[in-house]
Amino acid sequence: MPADYDVLVIGAGPAGAATALLLHARGYKVGVLERARFPRDKVCGEFISPAADAILEKLGVLESIEATKPLRLRGVAVSAYEEEEVAIDYPAHEGRAMSSLSLSRFSFDHLLFQKMKERGIDVLEEHQVDDLVFDAGNVTGVTGRDAGNRPFALNARVVVDAGGRNAVSLRRMGLRQRPKTGRGKVALAAHWSGVQFPGDYCYMHISRPGYTGMAPVSADAVNVVLVVDAERLRGEDVDAFYRRVVLQNRRRHDLLADAELNERVRTVDSLAFQVQPIPCGGLVLVGDAMGFIDPFTGEGIYLGLRSAELAAATLDVALQKGDVSRWMLARYDLRRRQEFHKKFVLSRALQKLIYRPRWCRRVVGVLADNPALAATLVGVIGDYLPAGRVVSAAYLTRLAVAWLRPQRGVRPQRGVRPQRAGRPQRAGRPQQRVRPAASHHAPTLESRPLPDEG
Ligand SMILES: Cc1cc2nc3c(=O)[nH]c(=O)nc-3n(C[C@H](O)[C@H](O)[C@H](O)COP(=O)(O)OP(=O)(O)OC[C@H]3O[C@@H](n4cnc5c(N)ncnc54)[C@H](O)[C@@H]3O)c2cc1C
Repeated sequence: MPADYDVLVIGAGPAGAATALLLHARGYKVGVLERARFPRDKVCGEFISPAADAILEKLGVLESIEATKPLRLRGVAVSAYEEEEVAIDYPAHEGRAMSSLSLSRFSFDHLLFQKMKERGIDVLEEHQVDDLVFDAGNVTGVTGRDAGNRPFALNARVVVDAGGRNAVSLRRMGLRQRPKTGRGKVALAAHWSGVQFPGDYCYMHISRPGYTGMAPVSADAVNVVLVVDAERLRGEDVDAFYRRVVLQNRRRHDLLADAELNERVRTVDSLAFQVQPIPCGGLVLVGDAMGFIDPFTGEGIYLGLRSAELAAATLDVALQKGDVSRWMLARYDLRRRQEFHKKFVLSRALQKLIYRPRWCRRVVGVLADNPALAATLVGVIGDYLPAGRVVSAAYLTRLAVAWLRPQRGVRPQRGVRPQRAGRPQRAGRPQQRVRPAASHHAPTLESRPLPDEG
C-alpha cells in the first residue's frame, strides 16, 4: 500500500517544524501532526542561543523573526548567591558580533508554524497521536484522535517523533532513562511588566532554593523563570510561592520592586532525562524527545534545531536508499551523541556547581577577573564555540591557575551597595548596570549568609 507520507512528524515545536521544513525542501511529502492549536504558549526561558541564527536563516524563518523586531541580548549576566551580577558578552565569531534572540515562544513557535503552512506542508492541528503503528518490528505509521475525538490512522515511510519531553515514543517503548543523580525539578514562569531592566543581557540569578533566568521578551514584558526542587513547593499556593521565592533574592527584588506580575504563574516539570537507543527502524527522535538537560544553560531550542538538521541529513540518505532500518537510522543517533556529548558534560558540571554556593561564587569571581575564560565559556554556552574549548585539560588548567591567584575584587563590608551606572530602564530600552567581566568594578555587596547554605 502506498504511504500517505514520506515523513510524518509528531509535534510542531521548533524541532518538529525544523525537521519538516528541511525534508520538505528536499522534495519529500511531509505531514505534521500537532495536538495543540497554534499559536500556543510554552513555558521556557525564551532566549535562543546565538548559534540558532544560522539554522533559522537556512529554514527561511529568520527574516520573519527579524521583521517582528525582537530583542537581542549581548550576553549573560550571572549573580551567585546575591553577589553583584557579572556581565559576560558573547565573543565575536568569524568577525561578527554575536547575540541571542529573546522573544516569546508564543511568537517564535508561531512563526515557524506559519512558515510550514506557507511552504505548503500538511500541518494537522488538534491531531493528537496516541500510538505508533508497527509492521515487521518497524514503525510504519501512527494512530490518534482529531479535534472531534474521531480516530485517525496515517502511515509513512518514516516517523519523526518531535513530541517533546512527553513524546509518545518515549512512553510507548519505555525509552526514558532518569539520571541516577539529580532531584525532580519544577519550573515556574510568568511575564512581568514595568521591570526596571538594566541591560541587554539574560540575567541568571543563582541562589537558594533555586535559580532564575530573566530575559526581556518585548518592550514591556520580562520573562522570569524560577527552577527549584519540586519538593520545595510542598503544597504551597503556586503564585504565592513563586512571588515569595523570586523576591526574596535582593538582586531580583531590586529589579522587580516596581514591576507587576501580570499573569498567573505557569508550571512545568523540568526533570532531566536521557533516552535509550531506539530498538526499531522507521523512527527517529528529535528535540527534547531525544533527551532533556536542565535549562540553566538555555540551549534546548538550538539543540532541537540542530538535531533536526542532523536527522534530516540521515533521513534523506535513508529514504533515497529505501532503507529506514534501525541500523541505518542509528547513524543519526551516533552523530548527535558525538556532537553534543561534551556540551552535556559541561551542562551537568555547571548544574553541580550552581548548587555549591562557595564554589559557585568563586567561579563567578574568577570569570569576572578573567575575561578570556569567561568569553570562551559563554561562546560554548551560546553553542557557536565547540564545547571541547571548555571541556579540555587546557581550559581547566587556566581556570585552576586563575583560581589560585588572589581575586581582584575588593569585598567591602556588608551593606555597601554597588554603584549604579544610572537609572535603570524599562524592558526594551536596556542600559547596562552590571559589572562587566574584569572591569574596574564597583564594590560588591557582601553576600548575606543563607540559612541552609552548605
Ligand atoms: C523551564 C524551562 C526553561 C527553558 N528555557 C530555555 C531557553 O531559555 N532557551 C532554550 O533554548 N531552551 C529552553 N528550554 C528548553 C526548550 O523549551 C526545549 O528544548 C524546546 O521547547 C524543545 O523543542 P521541541 O520541539 O523538542 O519540543 P516542544 O517545544 O515541547 O514541542 C513539542 C510539540 O509536540 C506536540 N506534541 C506532543 N505530543 C504530541 C502528540 N502525542 N501528538 C501530537 N502532538 C504532540 C506538543 O503540543 C508541542 O507543540 C527550557 C525548558 C524549560 C522546561
